Amino acid sequence: MRVVMLGTGDAIGTPKIGCRCPTCVDALNGGRSRRLRFSILLESEDGRVLIDTSPDLRWQLIKMGISKVDAVIWTHAHYDHYAGFGDFHRVQNHVPVYATRSTMDYIISYLYFLRPERHDVKPLEPFEIAGMEFTLFEVNHPPVETMGVLVSDGGKRVVITSDTSDALPEESLDLMRDADLLIADAIMPPGYKLNKHMNAEEAMSLARRVKARQTVLTHLSHLYPPHDEAVKRWPLAHDMMSITL
Ligand SMILES: [Zn+2]
Ligand SMILES: [Zn+2]
Ligand SMILES: [Zn+2]
Repeated sequence: MRVVMLGTGDAIGTPKIGCRCPTCVDALNGGRSRRLRFSILLESEDGRVLIDTSPDLRWQLIKMGISKVDAVIWTHAHYDHYAGFGDFHRVQNHVPVYATRSTMDYIISYLYFLRPERHDVKPLEPFEIAGMEFTLFEVNHPPVETMGVLVSDGGKRVVITSDTSDALPEESLDLMRDADLLIADAIMPPGYKLNKHMNAEEAMSLARRVKARQTVLTHLSHLYPPHDEAVKRWPLAHDMMSITL
């Protein structure tokens, strides 16, 4: 299985509009601090699945040379995780989409002009796409219902936390244990505290708690130092980072 981090930024992306902090300046100059919004591509020998459809999806698909996916899974109904789905318009019809019912209802009403193939799924009930098994599990990102994603290809296990704090239900922690790769929300460097996202310290302590073999941090804001400095201290992902398991 191959994982490609199509977008590693937070909801506003880096550079932030109007900001001249050192990280945004690095991003404006084309450095690795430049981050599109959240999407992850999973590839097996049988196909491709997108986790979330970033507002920057068009450019992400062009960069990857992809014109068709086998499915989309939405983790929650926040703009930075679904708004780019419209970029499939006149490119791919009837994209199969998977999400919990309330997330699906919200996103489908926003995208009323499209006709995706709707699959409502329940937390903790596995489903299969392109030879990969997916299980959604509850995380903690108030006020919206949000799902983390466990992906298994029979050999390796990848866990994507989506947007969440570290206050996770016990059954979700059980599912996350012993992942070969943990992709964790870490919107801020240590020192910042939010009730619906983790900072880098909280994300790394979660990684130790669930005994992840490898961890990358994503959903990163411009509040980190410029990427090349920050990555010496934390395992930050960067856009288009590809990990083969
Ligand atoms: Zn987000
Ligand atoms: Zn900035
Ligand atoms: Zn969110």
